[in-house]
Amino acid sequence: MNLPHLPEAALATRLIHHDYEPPPGFQAPQPAVHKASTVIFPNVAAMRARDWKDKSGYTYGLHGTPTTFLLEERLCALEGGQQCLLVPSGLAAIATVSLALLRAGDEVLLPDNAYGPNRALSASLLAQWGVRHTVYDPMDLADLEAKIGADTRLVWLEAPGSVTLEFPDLVGMLRLCRARGVLAALDNTWGAGLAFDPFALPCGDGGPVAVDVSVHALTKYPSGGGDVLMGSVVTHDADLHLKLKLAHMHLGLGVGANDAEAVLRALPSIGLRYRAHDRGARVLAAWLAQQPAVAQVLHPALPGSPGHAHWQALCGSANGGEGAAAGIFSVVLDARYSQARVDAFCDALRLFKLGYSWGGPMSLVVPYDIRSMRSSVPAYLAAGTVVRFSVGLENVDDLRADLAQALEVLDT
Ligand SMILES: *Cc1c(COP(=O)(O)O)cnc(C)c1O
Repeated sequence: MNLPHLPEAALATRLIHHDYEPPPGFQAPQPAVHKASTVIFPNVAAMRARDWKDKSGYTYGLHGTPTTFLLEERLCALEGGQQCLLVPSGLAAIATVSLALLRAGDEVLLPDNAYGPNRALSASLLAQWGVRHTVYDPMDLADLEAKIGADTRLVWLEAPGSVTLEFPDLVGMLRLCRARGVLAALDNTWGAGLAFDPFALPCGDGGPVAVDVSVHALTKYPSGGGDVLMGSVVTHDADLHLKLKLAHMHLGLGVGANDAEAVLRALPSIGLRYRAHDRGARVLAAWLAQQPAVAQVLHPALPGSPGHAHWQALCGSANGGEGAAAGIFSVVLDARYSQARVDAFCDALRLFKLGYSWGGPMSLVVPYDIRSMRSSVPAYLAAGTVVRFSVGLENVDDLRADLAQALEVLDT
């Protein structure tokens, strides 16, 4: 912008309205970070004409900047969707979907192994606003079928479920949702767009099936550092996207440019990191399965784990499924160990740190009380205490040695 009066303006004004513009054409491996609440319009007509609902221009920081538009498009590429919304956390992504798509009188169905805070949202705010929630058995298609009723509007899916990591018959569930005319929203944090394609799941005859919405805790693998909270809501239908976008706007959701940049910086290496996490987790899960203290290992790529055949069918075809499982698994420590012994085992770990979340370079561990988390404890789960491991990017032999020394503490 050319301001001819500027040389006479006071310093305070000149520092704000300085008219130097750097030359165009700068290119670098990483995109620029555009930070804005306010976006400047060239004139009133442009201000009035600008539509915030698509990516044709900019209106206000909450509605997008070049940095967030770029991240949205790259996440569409990652997940195979058409439209994307960025929100401040994975949980906010879940909440945006449920709040946008459900109204009083509706029912939402959740798997019994759903991400805990999704269930808590349904039991609190959604219930308060007249939305019922019902829990289904994720490993029993007939149970889901029986529970889809006249008021059911939305079905949440997880593949695999949180903590116990059972892999469901995702294709069967999506076919069922489509046949019954209910929306299917997948929490795709585990698959991350890498283990399977949520918008084109192969299912033989009749062509691929797709989820309606894929939510992703970018906090995990896309960020990859354990230092960013962010979520995405990806769709492949413009009308559904607009519904979600309106709710996103009404709720005032947005993300910071520096956080978007951190995810943009980590995204190119997500495939390499995911594969490395996967490799490490499988080595350690297989080793733990041999240890006498371990009653059961819950890892969908391990034969014998609940839902392994479903994982195998969906993710296991290319390269024997290598790189098609996340770096997270749980074990059931034998029922002969008291909670105090299990706690001592977790405390004894040195490289595995006690902490929630996953997807970063540092290995993490959390003990869980499954009985308090589920409507019913399934018969396929061994008796004992569930401990979940998130395998980071450390040397696998070092991690195995850490587990070995902590198992000795368990037995003392
Ligand atoms: C971590 C996680 C979330 C929530 O992500 P936040 O960014 O921590 O809110 C949602 N779903 C699953 C499956 C997760 O693992």
